[in-house]
Amino acid sequence: LDALDAHKRSLVERRAALGNGYRLFYRDPIEIVRGSGSHVFDEHGTDYLDAYNNVVSVGHCHPHVVEAVSRQAATLNTHTRYLHETILDYSEALLAKLPAQIDRITYQCTGSEANDLAIRIARNYTGARGIIVTREAYHGNTDLVSGFSPSIGMGQELSPSCGLLPTPDTHIHGDEAIGDFIVARLRERIAAMRADGIGFAGLLVDSIFSSDGIFPGKAGWLNKVADAVHEEGGLIIADEVQPGFCRTGEAFWGFARHGFVPDIVTMGKPMANGIACSATAARHEILDVFTAKIPYFNTFAGNPVAMAAAKATLEVMDDEDLTGNASRIGSMFVSQLEGLAVDHPAIADVRGAGLYIGVEFDDPATGDPLSVETLELIEQMRRRHVLTSNCGSYGNILKIRTPLVFSAADVDRYMTALQDSLAAIGI
Ligand code: PMP
Repeated sequence: LDALDAHKRSLVERRAALGNGYRLFYRDPIEIVRGSGSHVFDEHGTDYLDAYNNVVSVGHCHPHVVEAVSRQAATLNTHTRYLHETILDYSEALLAKLPAQIDRITYQCTGSEANDLAIRIARNYTGARGIIVTREAYHGNTDLVSGFSPSIGMGQELSPSCGLLPTPDTHIHGDEAIGDFIVARLRERIAAMRADGIGFAGLLVDSIFSSDGIFPGKAGWLNKVADAVHEEGGLIIADEVQPGFCRTGEAFWGFARHGFVPDIVTMGKPMANGIACSATAARHEILDVFTAKIPYFNTFAGNPVAMAAAKATLEVMDDEDLTGNASRIGSMFVSQLEGLAVDHPAIADVRGAGLYIGVEFDDPATGDPLSVETLELIEQMRRRHVLTSNCGSYGNILKIRTPLVFSAADVDRYMTALQDSLAAIGI
């Protein structure tokens, strides 16, 4: 009873202090107090499997990261107006992961700020304003970037210089046709932007199309789109907040999985295992045009604690071969999900790259999205102590985006909970 009262108290106080904007997951929200690897624990010590968290990419409270952060926090934390070694050590290591043409890095604290800066850089370089994104894209929450984040919904006005591409829905268009389909739409949008006097500054793209409903597609299909952007004189901003840092299991970056070289790369979430840290990397000839005109400083960005966290995170990614783990565990996961689909006609599609997997639920008779059922599935999984989510315009896509250290035993536990949950709701 005491625990229940404490739980209720925190819900009431939360609303009073934070307002209604702070939304919680689940009808019966959970309070977690501790984490380790792919697991989090509530106040009673109940073990929840975390199949949703890509921020703690190398696992909750990874000892190597905790040690690096603690050591640096106990030594010095300051900003980038003084010389400091850690920012150089990390930047050199990060640049070594990027194509040679992308040779400069500038730090921010959130993915939103990184994309905000990237748009400003692209506009400065091209002298045009138009930025193209996909239908359900999310690129962040600043005034500028929210205008290019249609997934926020009807309450959010899109920028007048935002051009929309359809979601590259491989389930509808097929893997082979998707590249030509998107290129054709891209050229139409660019022509319209030119006719309106907005011009075309570039394409801002998350190559896994996460909020669109997870459509990584076959490696390589996006190269056609990248070529078309360059032919039209625009820049490609690869938003690696979701696909970057080993996630796809096929390459370190989402764009590298395809092969094209972007002009600007933005990154955030998984970069420092939960410590606020993001970055914009660019070709120097593009960044220089911006920095020659505009002094950019970001108080907390690139600070020694954030850099220590990011450096330690990158070391774990390499030492534990987390690209390899994402590939191995991801393909095991997909084949088990495909096996499950044989007996569950409501599973219309299983797709993914590495440890970013989408399972689409449609009515087998009509093909209509099973939005309500998918939401209920998330709740049923929570009751079985598995944390997972949904996405896409109809919310009918189960979103599996685990820490990169997810194990084969974790996959088994997820699959058991999923089978039981499907049985409980009868789909
Ligand atoms: N880009 C993408 C693709 C994202 O998914 C997000 C966050 N969900 C952002 C940018 C914004 O990052 P942040 O929340 O750190 O500002």
